[in-house]
Amino acid sequence: MQKVIFLKYGELSTKKDNRNFFLKVLHDNIEKTLKNDVNITYDYGRMFISTKEGNFDNVIGKLKNIFGIHEIVVAYKIIEKDLDNIKENIIKLLNNKDFKTFKVEVKRSDKSYPIDGMTLRKVLGAHILKNIPDKKVDVNNPEVIVNVEIRLKEVLIYFDNFKGLGGYPVSTLGKGILMLSGGIDSPVAGYLAIKRGVKIEAVYFESPPHTSEAALNKVKELAKKLALYNIDIKLHVINFTEIQEAIYKNIPHEYLITIMRRMFYRISAIIASRRGAKVIINGESIGQVASQTLTSMNVINEVVKIPVIRPVACFDKLEIIELAKKIDTYDISILPYEDCCTIFVPDHPVINPSKEKCQEYENLIDYDSLIYEAVKNERVITITSEDETFKDLL
Ligand code: ATP
Ligand code: MG
Repeated sequence: MQKVIFLKYGELSTKKDNRNFFLKVLHDNIEKTLKNDVNITYDYGRMFISTKEGNFDNVIGKLKNIFGIHEIVVAYKIIEKDLDNIKENIIKLLNNKDFKTFKVEVKRSDKSYPIDGMTLRKVLGAHILKNIPDKKVDVNNPEVIVNVEIRLKEVLIYFDNFKGLGGYPVSTLGKGILMLSGGIDSPVAGYLAIKRGVKIEAVYFESPPHTSEAALNKVKELAKKLALYNIDIKLHVINFTEIQEAIYKNIPHEYLITIMRRMFYRISAIIASRRGAKVIINGESIGQVASQTLTSMNVINEVVKIPVIRPVACFDKLEIIELAKKIDTYDISILPYEDCCTIFVPDHPVINPSKEKCQEYENLIDYDSLIYEAVKNERVITITSEDETFKDLL
């Protein structure tokens, strides 16, 4: 009897045509995350992972953060499929367990197996009652469910399972550029996009000396949290100072934020096209601030053709905070470092900006060459979830 972990894919099973591709990516993602710790094999229905005794908890802990896995099961695999062998092994396993009530569930995917599922369930239940004293069957609320799967090449027996994160394996849907600030919303937006199979690269706009090294470190810390789900994450750091100062000097202040965000979008779209990303993702939420009214979103969005995905657009702030706590970004996000939105905030930002005015004001600055320079001078940092902490520098 061999102890193994196997995975149930959940939502992947609806993707008939792409199934092989999804499974291959899931396999590769697990291999990249768990490295040489494991041996992985898979078929259409299940992915098997074997590892050294003593390493199961570590492996399960990591699998719990990988998208595309619906359920993680610890199972015992037997190759001799005859009934006596199954019975004997079930008793051996149950003798180590402390329980009073149980039920047996049988899944028979090997349709040529000589005993049907219903009969097998009854026979195995009766065998347990006869061989282990003081046990009772409870079909509604059993303490232990004895799962038996009769497969083509083996029988699996299992009791315990853990919920996986669901979603799609990261990368299966392509790449997206996440606008990552130090706030609460954008890391949550990134997490939700990764969940749908989008591999993200992040862009952060900094304005030194108006923004500090500590503000950048905060963004690196947030990226590191997202890297847990994204395998690793490329962070594009764009020096936005010159653009920001040009806007500040030349443009009526009620339009500062609107135009600054139009520049963010333009630059994000350029990075997306260079990196082969198909969408921009950000943490905008309808009505949260003046630049997130529907009119503002419209006027800001018009400068790019690429789709902009806003995963938290319709969430309340409290719902976003709840998710931020769940993915452990909240405590980092609330650290008090300035980002470049907050230092040049006007007293009365426009709530209903006009496209014509934006275009007129933007023509006061040579933004094309400023953008060209900013993108040319980008710094790219690759961050993994195992990187040394950046917190010391905060
Ligand atoms: P908060 O959680 O405080 O709202 P925020 O990051 O959402 O912080 P907003 O001013 O609401 O800040 O900005 C909306 C979105 O624009 C952010 O979610 C983020 O995607 C993007 N953004 C803002 N500032 C930056 C920045 N400096 N670099 C990259 N993206 C940014
Ligand atoms: Mg916000």
